[in-house]
Amino acid sequence: MWPSTRPRNGEASAQGLIDAHCHIDFPQFDDRREQLLSECAANGIRRIVVPGTVPEGWQKILELARAHSMLAPAAGLHPWWVDGTGDDSLEQLDQLLAANSDLLAVGECGLDRKKGPALTQQQSVFEAQIRLAGRHDRPLLIHSVGTHDTVLALLRRLGFTLPFLMHGFSGSREQAEALVRQGGFIGVSGIITHPRASRARRVMAQLPLESLVLETDAPGLPPHGVPRDGNTPLNLPWVLDTLCSLRQEPPAEIVAAIRDNTRRLFMQRLDTEGLQKPGAPV
Ligand SMILES: [Zn+2]
Repeated sequence: MWPSTRPRNGEASAQGLIDAHCHIDFPQFDDRREQLLSECAANGIRRIVVPGTVPEGWQKILELARAHSMLAPAAGLHPWWVDGTGDDSLEQLDQLLAANSDLLAVGECGLDRKKGPALTQQQSVFEAQIRLAGRHDRPLLIHSVGTHDTVLALLRRLGFTLPFLMHGFSGSREQAEALVRQGGFIGVSGIITHPRASRARRVMAQLPLESLVLETDAPGLPPHGVPRDGNTPLNLPWVLDTLCSLRQEPPAEIVAAIRDNTRRLFMQRLDTEGLQKPGAPV
């Protein structure tokens, strides 16, 4: 059975889902963010972790998270936009982490072989963020395209032992297992809704359930048939339903395990209870 369109009332679309990586701060959501967050709440999405990508965007994310209890903020320097990033941005990130205990993670950071400035430049900014995360006791939200082995080698070399998310993962099973052994969690996204993504679907079916978390990466990583940059966090139940269709465990077990995994990824600091009481602001 292949859920080729977004299911309306999927079997597994239970309450209390967490989108571990979603760019709801991006300007394309500015004129409909309130509406979207209300719809997310109505569709069982309880928390959305919002990664930071550029210094100019960090404050907006912190403010959005203070205005909406559904949102949880993170801050980092995305590899696509580190051209010209200097010590001043890293110093700013250092201070921001020290001053804001509500910042859940360092990221989105990482390496991209297909996009952005030279890998050497990306790598020096990524290394600095790995060190910052270690120093501030925060997990990492990692973007990696064609660089999984390098990411793993860097984490090992720098002695990073905290949890991290390999977001939008589409690598091999062997790479995923090595990352999980290092403390990583594997981000399951709309990639698995694409009929042609046979390796990604197979890998997500085979990995230990304890290693998986859900994410949309909206507005990026559109699920099957959704236009480029047209993704929203409302597609999270679709990702979950697809995952459930690929795995052997009962949906309720998958939902419970993923919630527990996401709590561990964020070092038990992501409040997943007590939100969305009737009448509470989302
Ligand atoms: Zn992202």
